[in-house]
Amino acid sequence: MKKNIPIFVTHYGCPNQCVFCNQKKISGVNHAVDLAECELLLNQAVKYNYPPEETEIAFFGGSFTGIPLEMQKKYLKLAEQFRQYFYGVRLSTRPDYITPSILDMLLEHGVTTIELGVQSTVDAVLEKNLRKMTHQDTVNAVELIRKYPFSLGLQMMVSMYGASDDDDIRTADEIIALKPDFVRIYPTVVLENTKLYELYQAGEYQIKSLEQTVCLTAEIYRKFLNAKIPVIRVGLMASEEINSQNIIGAYHEAFGELVQNEIYYQIIKEQLNNKKTIGKKLYIYCGEKEVSKVAGHKRKNILRLNKEFSFCDVKVCPDPLRKAYQLSLKIEQ
Ligand code: SF4
Repeated sequence: MKKNIPIFVTHYGCPNQCVFCNQKKISGVNHAVDLAECELLLNQAVKYNYPPEETEIAFFGGSFTGIPLEMQKKYLKLAEQFRQYFYGVRLSTRPDYITPSILDMLLEHGVTTIELGVQSTVDAVLEKNLRKMTHQDTVNAVELIRKYPFSLGLQMMVSMYGASDDDDIRTADEIIALKPDFVRIYPTVVLENTKLYELYQAGEYQIKSLEQTVCLTAEIYRKFLNAKIPVIRVGLMASEEINSQNIIGAYHEAFGELVQNEIYYQIIKEQLNNKKTIGKKLYIYCGEKEVSKVAGHKRKNILRLNKEFSFCDVKVCPDPLRKAYQLSLKIEQ
């Protein structure tokens, strides 16, 4: 399991104001860390003795390559001083802030992973959300990055302002076509002091229920699973700051877990298709670590299966030989 030492360069380097963005709240930090703070964070992280070969320093929260060049170099040079403790540097940025000279500089300064905030591949959605970029910017950035030895991650958002479910499914398909090394999926939430909050209050942005968002995200997640593209994060990271905010929409501390539960439910339902179930017992065999995900949050999946298929009993049975998402079902009298 890879680890990050997160350093939030909050909103720093970004002249934009996407409708959903209040980076200060999303990252749980309300100012960009300066170099002294950054050094302090790295010194603290060293004390945890993370295995260097599994740990990257991660500049998150803004558009790193939009920061003035000299400042980018200062951050990266500082990170280089800690290279014996961490194998590389990861950063997130916008697709339209990628150029060959930027990539040369990042490579020279030890950057190993670049994450692009794609959010949507549908131009009409990008425009509505004031992203000030197009899908072609993403395609161009990915092509450029692939000429270098960076690992590439793409981030997408679900249920953005003006996006239909079909738009989100299309975004997942178009991200898969770009063959990233990994993806992150974030549900859209409404934060105060954003344009989206105004749109929500004016009734122009309707939020989906948590359940609807979980279902859609599960469908999207399965696409990445089928394409063998690792999903390294689903949902915003819980932070003290986030927990204390009035967040409207599909925010749940365990959003990723709810999505995994839903995936298992969908797989089970598909395998039960057209089978006789009324009054019978169902045994679900799954990997040892997957039992609670198969059973669902507060055994919700078991309750749903009982109700929907009228089983008299449902049992989840651990099988050490099975991997994640490998299920088999047995139905008995
Ligand atoms: S580009 Fe990123 S940091 Fe800038 S406003 Fe949009 S989401 Fe926020």
